[in-house]
Amino acid sequence: MEIPAVGYGTWLGLDEKMEFKIQDAPKLVEALSYAIDIGYRHIDTAHLYRVEPEIGQVVKKKIAQGVVKRDDLFIATKVWHHYHREADVETSLRASLKRLDMDYVDLVLMHWPMSISQDGVDEKIDYLETYRGLEAVLKKGLTKAIGVSNFNLEQMKRLLANCNVVPATNQIEVNLNLGQKELVEYCQSKGVLVVGFTTFGSMVPSRATPDSPEPKIDNPTMVSIAKKHGKAVTQVALRYLYQREIATIPKSLSKNRVLENASIFDFELDKEDIAQIAKFDNGYRTDIPSFWQDYSNYPFEKIANPIQGIPLSLRKWKNGANLDID
Ligand code: NDP
Repeated sequence: MEIPAVGYGTWLGLDEKMEFKIQDAPKLVEALSYAIDIGYRHIDTAHLYRVEPEIGQVVKKKIAQGVVKRDDLFIATKVWHHYHREADVETSLRASLKRLDMDYVDLVLMHWPMSISQDGVDEKIDYLETYRGLEAVLKKGLTKAIGVSNFNLEQMKRLLANCNVVPATNQIEVNLNLGQKELVEYCQSKGVLVVGFTTFGSMVPSRATPDSPEPKIDNPTMVSIAKKHGKAVTQVALRYLYQREIATIPKSLSKNRVLENASIFDFELDKEDIAQIAKFDNGYRTDIPSFWQDYSNYPFEKIANPIQGIPLSLRKWKNGANLDID
């Protein structure tokens, strides 16, 4: 199978009160329509993201307008960690297909290795069981490929030693601060494509905090590399990952940035650029869901002062289309 190297990410995010930004859904519809018009063919979504109905509507419209055929698109969704029993994987995927109004997706991922109920109970279901559920939906033709997300090195090794179908991808945070060298090299050596999320890390103004590390968007080293190639710093960041053979799924609701993020195939970073950019890798993680850190199979390092309590928006939701799973 082939996967377009740059896809369109559809997680709208949480606000300061940890509530889901559903008010941005109409902007997503517009930006995604534009993205398909200008050539994006890979869409990354998830049950959690609550926008599968909107994505389904946009895709249907673009097919009706003759812009694309279903076969031209690569649609990925994910199974949330409430549905980790083997049989629940199919229930979750069928509900996603219903919301998307599609017969199949191209890829379905286990969103996280932990299994947590809507009430926040640690269900301790082995991710190998969940993966068997993914292998079953693959066999039934509900998806063309299966994979995982947020698996660490140890979990990948254990999964590969115990699965029948090698996961097509591991979708993980990777950016200039978080290079994930060992995990990326291991996945690639086993034929598992790494798909990077939060690929701008905390570089962009919407993510930068006073104590987040360089490079920010105005970092002199990055600006000079970008200038040399006549590109933006964010394009250099995506191109760097592309040259590491990592697919990316940047999210933007702005048309300019949707276009900019996909325009990375007409220049090449040289050895010197790569050596300079590699120095920013300091292991800093932008997305730390520390409220899960005491759950079984949490994949990351624990931090000293975790957020207490899982936000309600990550445990219970209805997507408004009345097609969700209760
Ligand atoms: P990104 O690194 O894609 O950053 C998104 C942010 O950057 C938005 O605030 C966006 O704002 C801004 N932005 C986008 N392009 C530019 C640009 N060219 N210049 C300046 N700012 C820009 O982070 P995400 O966390 O959204 O990750 C991308 C996708 O990955 C998600 O949408 C989702 O599909 C997936 N994901 C998967 C996870 C998993 O657990 N598997 C976890 C997190 C994300 P604006 O919209 O205003 O342009």
